[in-house]
Amino acid sequence: MRTNRPRHAWGIDALVREVHRRDLPAMPRPSWSDLARYPLAPAAAVAVALGGIVREADGGPAMVLAGVVMAGVVMAGALVVTGARLRARDVAALADSRRQARTDELTGLPNRRSVFEALAAADDRLGAGESVAVLVLDLDRFKEVNNSLGHGVGDALLRQVGPRLARELRSGDVLARLGGDEFVVLASDLDGEGAAALAARLLAELRQPFGVGGMTLTVDAGVGVAIGPVHSVSAEELLQLADLALHSAKAGRGGVAVYDDERDGSGRRRIEAVEQLRAGIAGGQLVLHYQPKLDLGTDEVEGVEALVRWEHPTRGLVYPDQFIGLAESAGLMAPMTTRVIELALAQCRSWADRGRWLTVAVNVSPSNLVDEQFPGEVARLLAAHDVPSGVLVLEVTESILMEDRDRAVGVLTRLRDAGVGVSIDDYGTGYSSLAYLATLPVTELKLDRTFVGEMTGSLRAESIVTSTLQLAHAMGLTFVAEGVEDQATLDTLTFLGCDVVQGYHVSRPLPPEQLWAWLCERAPEGIALA
Ligand code: C2E
Ligand code: MG
Ligand code: MG
Repeated sequence: MRTNRPRHAWGIDALVREVHRRDLPAMPRPSWSDLARYPLAPAAAVAVALGGIVREADGGPAMVLAGVVMAGVVMAGALVVTGARLRARDVAALADSRRQARTDELTGLPNRRSVFEALAAADDRLGAGESVAVLVLDLDRFKEVNNSLGHGVGDALLRQVGPRLARELRSGDVLARLGGDEFVVLASDLDGEGAAALAARLLAELRQPFGVGGMTLTVDAGVGVAIGPVHSVSAEELLQLADLALHSAKAGRGGVAVYDDERDGSGRRRIEAVEQLRAGIAGGQLVLHYQPKLDLGTDEVEGVEALVRWEHPTRGLVYPDQFIGLAESAGLMAPMTTRVIELALAQCRSWADRGRWLTVAVNVSPSNLVDEQFPGEVARLLAAHDVPSGVLVLEVTESILMEDRDRAVGVLTRLRDAGVGVSIDDYGTGYSSLAYLATLPVTELKLDRTFVGEMTGSLRAESIVTSTLQLAHAMGLTFVAEGVEDQATLDTLTFLGCDVVQGYHVSRPLPPEQLWAWLCERAPEGIALA
């Protein structure tokens, strides 16, 4: 039994994205060599010959004129025939390329692109009050077939699935391959009972032994069912719900599950939340609050940390712990980080234009650091906002650096080489040694607030802070203490030689205009630099 099905993690999300990319191959244009194959040349020869016959007859100007007219008629006729044949050929080529674009090469069934066209058509039927059932089928342990018997056997098996399923379908039903070992059926005019019965029949077909390359293979499968308009009036959402039901079908014993909001609803809410977040990122709902970082050497605020918040249309201001994990698991981290860096650099530019340069630290996540495009994206954003690279600091956590070390180090090195600062955030919460981290291209170490918060009154916590600070300095790193909540902690950190502090005692994270007012209030003369 497969409980962990990573393919689904991208499967349905990718399908949803597919809707936005439904471009078809362009119609082929006829070339000159195409034209040569049509009857223009013979027609021209006939025209010339006719002209010759007329001239030989020596019939005077009237005959010559008649000859020219006849030749013209023949040429015009040839052009009409050519045009008609070209059109017929274009139509055939277009139909062929359209068919290919909609057909799954392996099975000959309609492909994912077709599914979305069928879903769009089903939307119209749902809108008119008709019922539409969406059934998603997935073979069990297909990967094992591929691995143990070879891809040739796996392919041959997949080719037999379509004809099997088709036996149970009516002429108007749609059967398509979504990808891998996953198939979908769209069937009209079925209520819940009818759709579940169809699912059971399809499953029974699949459970009949398959003869492949002289072997007899028995496979099992799961079927998830969603029915509109009961479960949704959107056919695309029905596909997502059927996929959620499929998870339940696979987890249970029966092999068939009809979508049940109580059982599968959390998955549906997740899908909705992901879509809301996607729209929120694209629609400008992310805002940044900025928390000052105080340099203890100069008693000046040299920089800020940008902390993202989501201005949700109904939930109000949502904090990152509520959506960063979702963004990461739904593959939204790249657009989110791009948006955050963009906002942070635009803000930085605006403060600089008002006479104050502040470094800005942005938190990045694991997926950013394994993305080879990321350094280029950062360079593009810095140039777009005309901000020097040294102004930007990227905060990464220890765990990121441990996970996919080689790629992360490669990406970080490119960023460092470009002049961007790199800070290790929440230091001490992971299991890496500072000696190991210092071999990475980093410039700053931020000790996690759990150690900083405990240091007054705890000799043990204080000695951790002291030793980490000494080691960081020995390795040439700037030492930042985060989570400073009181004056006593600030005093101790100053005494120990800490470089920079950040915490509620200095200031909470603030919206940009409030931060500017706070800076003006703190050092009115320091702002008028320009
Ligand atoms: P972080 O990067 O360690 O940021 C510091 C967090 O501690 C912030 O929480 C901040 O408001 C909070 N904090 C600051 N000073 C104090 C203090 O004195 N006491 C206490 N108790 N807390 C303090 P926030 O804004 O809720 O962010 C939480 C985490 O979310 C961040 O931790 C960071 O890991 C993540 N995050 C925030 N913005 C982004 C972003 O744009 N991208 C990514 N990938 N992650 C982000
Ligand atoms: Mg941080
Ligand atoms: Mg932190």
